[in-house]
Amino acid sequence: PVTVLRLGHRPGRDERMTTHVGLTARALGADRVVLANDGASRRDTIEDITDRFGGPFAVEETERPIDRIEAFDGVVVHLTMYGLPVQDVEAEIRDAHETDPVLVVVGAEKVPWDVYEHAEYNVGVTNQPHSEVASLAVFLDRLFEGAELDREWEDAERRVVPQEAGKRVDET
Ligand code: SAM
Repeated sequence: PVTVLRLGHRPGRDERMTTHVGLTARALGADRVVLANDGASRRDTIEDITDRFGGPFAVEETERPIDRIEAFDGVVVHLTMYGLPVQDVEAEIRDAHETDPVLVVVGAEKVPWDVYEHAEYNVGVTNQPHSEVASLAVFLDRLFEGAELDREWEDAERRVVPQEAGKRVDET
């Protein structure tokens, strides 16, 4: 299984990004997301999408995200522009994922040094600054080698039927 942990959250600024980390984790094959909770809950949108478009996908919140890294029994992958190139370490991480759960950690603001030290892998999706949503999407797609694109969804209320043009959504 793959869990995504989103550290930090700047009130006001990171609202949609936090939701997008959750939605991207869900759409691209992770099993669960853990969000930092600083008093306000942000799980509703993600759970609402899972109710409508299917799962399984779990949303959790924690007031102490760093503790989740320390307690994690598996391989911790921290996505950071300072890390080793994803293309150099992806095969090793895929091998590890065959036997061990993976925790993918992404940041929002400055990530504490502990996280770099605790992670088995600090991984860069390029060494250029960009976004937690983009790095998560590329990393998950590399980890699953594209298989996540063909995933079947369970208990969906609605299903998009792909169209060359136009929108079709069937109630299931
Ligand atoms: N300035 C922050 C720092 O020094 O840690 C990072 C801010 S960045 C907007 C937010 C998050 O996006 C990072 O914590 C990291 O998880 C992810 N990120 C940004 N660029 C990345 C890259 N090139 N490769 C991997 N992850 C990246």
